[in-house]
Amino acid sequence: MPNSILHEEFQAMPYWWEAYKPVTGDLTDVPPTARVAIVGGGYAGLSCAIELADAGIEACVFESAELGAGASTRSGGGVSGGVNIGKSFTGKVTMLEADVLKNILASGYDAFSLIESLIEREKIDCFWEKTGRFVGAWTPNDYAYQERRVATLNANAGSGAFMVPKERQREEMASDYYYGGMVVERSAKLHPALYYKGLLDAARRRKIMLCAKAAVKTITPAGQGWRIVTSRGDIEVGDVVIATNGYTGDATPELKRRLIPLASHIIATEELPPDLAASLIPKKRTLADTKRVLCYYRMSPDGKRMIFGGRARFTQVTPAVSAPILHRFMTDRFPQLKGIRVTHAWTGNVAFTWDALPHTGTLGGMHYALGCNGSGVAMMTYLGRQTARRIIGGSNSTCGFELEDFPDFPLYNGSPNWALPAVGAYYRFRDGLNRTLARFS
Ligand SMILES: Cc1cc2nc3c(=O)[nH]c(=O)nc-3n(C[C@H](O)[C@H](O)[C@H](O)COP(=O)(O)OP(=O)(O)OC[C@H]3O[C@@H](n4cnc5c(N)ncnc54)[C@H](O)[C@@H]3O)c2cc1C
Repeated sequence: MPNSILHEEFQAMPYWWEAYKPVTGDLTDVPPTARVAIVGGGYAGLSCAIELADAGIEACVFESAELGAGASTRSGGGVSGGVNIGKSFTGKVTMLEADVLKNILASGYDAFSLIESLIEREKIDCFWEKTGRFVGAWTPNDYAYQERRVATLNANAGSGAFMVPKERQREEMASDYYYGGMVVERSAKLHPALYYKGLLDAARRRKIMLCAKAAVKTITPAGQGWRIVTSRGDIEVGDVVIATNGYTGDATPELKRRLIPLASHIIATEELPPDLAASLIPKKRTLADTKRVLCYYRMSPDGKRMIFGGRARFTQVTPAVSAPILHRFMTDRFPQLKGIRVTHAWTGNVAFTWDALPHTGTLGGMHYALGCNGSGVAMMTYLGRQTARRIIGGSNSTCGFELEDFPDFPLYNGSPNWALPAVGAYYRFRDGLNRTLARFS
């Protein structure tokens, strides 16, 4: 194992936790009753609780671990304006009726507007930078596909998208790795753990009950509402919101089987020599690619480190496994980073859905905000708020992700781990094949 890539101060934890590390808080007692219980204390759960509190509705948030222990403090911090909607983890794109597509892209636009206004309204200091995103084309066919999408994205999601041909790619990144790509100007980046901390502070200002280390075990109908058993006590509530995304478990089996939890992995490098650091992504955008087994990357908020993520494996693996793979992916794109060491490596779960779309709605009377499909910083904040609005009622605003069908898959029970290594290997093979064919065409 090429351990030499690991810095002597290497830590197997998110780089972001240097600024905010998930905490238990004051371990608030579980109250006997509340109007609403929210299961999951990530972006979706907190944003739902904040919207409810502003409408005068008391909610209690249950988090099985520390506050922020889920994906919300672990992401790459790229904020896309809906550009990935409908693309599954296999790279397959969901075919949608024109009016459905229009609605979901409009909601993608709203999701981006919401996070921007929330950060401003709550004065969240999280290195929000609206510097755009460059999505590199893995093959000429991918470039042609991106080209066909530009008009739709601009018309419905106000994306400010345009194509960058291969000859001009070095304006976007110090590498010739892709066949050109697409820029989406209406995209941003932030420090995900500081954004989370900002939402947590906003929740605390509103005196929202936050019960950390309180895993929800069972949820059963009781009278007009629900009885919830948690690891720290029981509660009776009127409404329940499930906001557990990639960590959805056996308390909600019907939702669990509608989600495919997938691991995503990230490394942070040591500080780079200043000239090298400034040269890699000159326009300070976030970068991603069109591969099935995609990579996403950016510079750290201080511009000194590369933060490089991808599906090194589809399952949770240790940094000893993921870090060398991601380091290789990084140096494939930027050979000038060979010899640069890794100071942090971490992993977290995202949730894909069978139609590759995020969902909010009700199932069996429970509300849910689930299925980030890999991009959830803006989207899960938005779905949390939309779920709260449905509970509050009286709003005319529609949400493109409140779809009639939240599909499941025959015989699938929500535990795909036995199949994921083979699926990952197959899609890595398909990526390699497509690239080889592109070279000879
Ligand atoms: C490595 C990685 C990189 C990513 N990069 C990006 C990116 O660059 N851009 C982007 O937009 N998105 C990205 N994402 C996705 C994004 O982070 C998530 O979509 C988002 O944080 C999900 O928020 P959430 O509130 O829905 O879920 P989470 O933040 O995952 O919170 C769900 C919580 O539910 C809790 N929970 C589960 N079951 C129970 C229970 N029974 N009782 C109580 N609590 C429970 C869990 O402990 C967890 O904390 C990335 C994710 C990962 C893991």
